Amino acid sequence: MIAPELVRRLVLDMIAELPEAIRSELMSVRVVVLEAPTALLLSEGVEPAEEGAYIVRGEDPMPMGDGFTDDPQDRAIYLFARNLTRERVRSVLLHEVAHACGLNEEEVSDLEAAS
Ligand SMILES: [Zn+2]
Repeated sequence: MIAPELVRRLVLDMIAELPEAIRSELMSVRVVVLEAPTALLLSEGVEPAEEGAYIVRGEDPMPMGDGFTDDPQDRAIYLFARNLTRERVRSVLLHEVAHACGLNEEEVSDLEAAS
C-alpha cells in the first residue's frame, strides 16, 4: 500500500525518463492512479488485487458533437495504490506501458524475463 499522491509523483518522474518514441506512443493514453479498482473496472475484468491494468474502450469511432473524433479509442493505464508498494510502481508501470505499445501478455513476460 502506497499513497496515491506518491504513486502519481513517481509515475510523472518515470514517464519523463522514458525514451521519446515511447512517450509519443503514450500521448493518447491516460494514466490514472486510483486507490483501488472501481466497480466499472471490476466489471471490465480487473481483479480486486491487481496492481495495474491497461484498458482499451470504444474500438469503434464514437460520435462527438457534430462530427466524429479521429481518436476512436479511450486508452488508459490504471495503477491501484492499495495493491502497490513503492518498489513495485516502476515495474508495474512499465508492464502496462508495454501493453499500451501493443505487446500481449506473453511478449511482456518475455521482455520482463530478459531484463
Ligand atoms: Zn499484463
